[in-house]
Amino acid sequence: MHCEVFGLYPYPFDYFRPNTLEEALVLAQGDGMKFLAGGQSLVPLLNLHVAEIKGVVDLQHVASALKFVQSQQDRLRLGALWTHDELSHSSLLGGRCPLFSQAAAFIGHPRIRRRGTLGGSIAHADPLAEWILVMTLLDPQLILASAKEERQLPFHDYLLGPMMTALSDDELITAVEISLPEKATYGFTEVSRRPGDYALVATALSVGWDRDRIAQADIAISGVSDVPRTFPSISRDMCQEYPSHGLVEHIKHAVEAAVDPPSDVLAGASYRRHLAGILVEKALHQAFDEMSNAGETAAKSIGKSEGERT
Ligand SMILES: Cc1cc2nc3c(=O)[nH]c(=O)nc-3n(C[C@H](O)[C@H](O)[C@H](O)COP(=O)(O)OP(=O)(O)OC[C@H]3O[C@@H](n4cnc5c(N)ncnc54)[C@H](O)[C@@H]3O)c2cc1C
Repeated sequence: MHCEVFGLYPYPFDYFRPNTLEEALVLAQGDGMKFLAGGQSLVPLLNLHVAEIKGVVDLQHVASALKFVQSQQDRLRLGALWTHDELSHSSLLGGRCPLFSQAAAFIGHPRIRRRGTLGGSIAHADPLAEWILVMTLLDPQLILASAKEERQLPFHDYLLGPMMTALSDDELITAVEISLPEKATYGFTEVSRRPGDYALVATALSVGWDRDRIAQADIAISGVSDVPRTFPSISRDMCQEYPSHGLVEHIKHAVEAAVDPPSDVLAGASYRRHLAGILVEKALHQAFDEMSNAGETAAKSIGKSEGERT
């Protein structure tokens, strides 16, 4: 009685722990079945009786098959069962796309980072989740498998709204495939009310380089609209520019003018707008600093006035 009133325990459900991926996909075809990866979102929802299911397909024994990194020149394929912590500490990933460790550091607490997975976070699709922001920025192909077929879906067609996706009930996200520019640096930063909370506003950005000039840039921000959004025309303003304080100021003000955030109990619209501006500024400095630390010549360009922008 006590448990039912306060929702401390889930309603009863069947539990399956398959040993192969094929077996997991067949089990998932059953009515009301859910995959269980790290359990860091599903279990709280079940305990609070927000979700009611017939059974779970625990991926524990198939996790090792879905923890891989395939690195090609311009492409990276990541298995979906990597935990947040493993992504944060992978040296191969750190070398190819340090954005993953930058973002993972902001996810929840150590226990959550040790258990929660990339695929679980993408499937759960919380609009303030760090991986949802990173995926919005990088727009990877998601590799989805069911007992019937395997298909690829670009992330921009996958995320339909807050916690709404194009994933079918019996489909498993097995991997994400990311196209990476040959030479890029990244920035990721966020503000939350307390350490470990979901962000109020977060920014992820990438800067591709042609020697010491910006060849290409992308900016994504969460917490200013119902799902994270990108800023293609503002990002285009950075192309062919040298990194400079003037450029950072220009982008910061352009972002502040472009966002139209909601007010809610956690933060007002004007505060979210202000955060968007300063977080973009900080993330740009991270990306530019990373470039100068890599021994490139970007450093010498920092400090050019806006008038010197080409
Ligand atoms: C206190 C707390 C704080 C948190 N803070 C943050 C935070 O700051 N930032 C953040 O991003 N997250 C946060 N989280 C959520 C955490 O990151 C989860 O790990 C993540 O959202 C879900 O990953 P999981 O592996 O635990 O998935 P699960 O909980 O196992 O599953 C979540 C959902 O995804 C489905 N699913 C799981 N894996 C797959 C797959 N490969 N393919 C298809 N469907 C799948 C499940 O069926 C379920 O519906 C927090 C969680 C808690 C409890």
